[in-house]
Amino acid sequence: MNILLLGSGGREHALAWKLAQSPQCDSLWAAPGNPGIAEHATCVTLDVADHAAVLAFCEEKVIGLVVIGPEAPLVDGLADSLRDRGFAVFGPSKAAAQLEGSKGFTKDLCARANIPTGGYERVANEADALAALQKFGAPVVIKADGLAAGKGVTVAMTMAEAEEAVRDIFAGRFGEAGAEAVIEEFLEGEEASFFALTDGSTIVPFASAQDHKRVGDGDTGPNTGGMGAYSPAPVLTADLAGEAMTRIIAPTVRTLAEEGMPYSGVLFLGLMLTRDGPKLIEYNCRFGDPECQVMLLRLESDLVELLYACAENRLAAIQPPKFSDNTALTVVMAAKGYPGTPEKGGTIDGIAAAEAHGAKVFQAGTALKDGQLVASGGRVLNVTARGDSVTEAQRNAYAAVDAIDFPTGFCRRDIGWREVARETR
Ligand code: ATP
Repeated sequence: MNILLLGSGGREHALAWKLAQSPQCDSLWAAPGNPGIAEHATCVTLDVADHAAVLAFCEEKVIGLVVIGPEAPLVDGLADSLRDRGFAVFGPSKAAAQLEGSKGFTKDLCARANIPTGGYERVANEADALAALQKFGAPVVIKADGLAAGKGVTVAMTMAEAEEAVRDIFAGRFGEAGAEAVIEEFLEGEEASFFALTDGSTIVPFASAQDHKRVGDGDTGPNTGGMGAYSPAPVLTADLAGEAMTRIIAPTVRTLAEEGMPYSGVLFLGLMLTRDGPKLIEYNCRFGDPECQVMLLRLESDLVELLYACAENRLAAIQPPKFSDNTALTVVMAAKGYPGTPEKGGTIDGIAAAEAHGAKVFQAGTALKDGQLVASGGRVLNVTARGDSVTEAQRNAYAAVDAIDFPTGFCRRDIGWREVARETR
């Protein structure tokens, strides 16, 4: 089968690496891809916002499966355009992708389906938002409704901070994404991510992971797209994962199907493990980046078979995904300046040396300049390794990091710290 993969990050490098291993994959195309993805796929230029161009490409190359990596084309309805023309797509429809595209949509769905999550109020203007803040009191969470690349959320510890966040949103800082907002109860606990595959009726658990959002060691500094992750996340025990499946994922999938917007693809749950059990913080409608990299390093099943079964509504007919029972951990190497303005053009060497001892280096913001690999974005490399414990996976990942020569790069030195502390206790 010919497969088209859309995206250009470390997540898509991991997807390309795993898709290309499948005996079912005849040729793999990626748009736009990156130099790492180009080791497994033919990279092409395609504007994903131009649905007609994507359709024409799929027709020309006789694409049997389209795998959509990032959220923006899903929220924009690319999966619908492709399905309407008969193509098999891994990824939800525009209607179902509202789970990520509108925080208010998800909160209302949770209310209708009695799904455990924080209390909330949807607001459409500054006055209503400020009134809602008074009801919740600090700490409180303020979220722009739409996609804001992780920047639309403020966890406000004081009312002054909360009011500033509200004013920011309604002053237009997030454009259309901030036309509405959600004021939300502050939840306390440890965060973990959980992933499930669904074709709209059958649901199979995929894997758990824990990421590290802040740029600095000890979870300090500004939020990022993610500076590292590991999988599985032992904090999400089998019991807690089971609870997330029955109390959160199953009612979500059932309600969306009942309401005429069946969800097909991967469901990514951001969970807060509170004293009262797991509560939903957010849904994403695609694999996490960098969580995907660690999960796929552990995946033993054929990824094409899994994604194709989701796309074709026959997940019940195949074996559920199998994973190695060791840990995978990834360290994100970013370009200095990230998450502000990253320094571009810095040279990168030593990937082969890093991989010589079993690590896998997934590429994100990289480019080739006169044959030399250079940094071209914020998050640049995902140095990923396995071990029998988080401590061992961490040791192996940092040994590989230290083999890489990327003078304008940096990384956190403590990825996995929570679990390493628990393991050494
Ligand atoms: P991202 O793209 O970074 O995942 P997002 O814009 O989709 O972010 P959320 O995941 O909803 O936003 O929130 C970002 C972070 O804010 C969460 O990972 C969590 O740390 C914190 N957060 C969100 N909601 C709450 C809450 N109700 N209580 C406590 N913390 C919260």
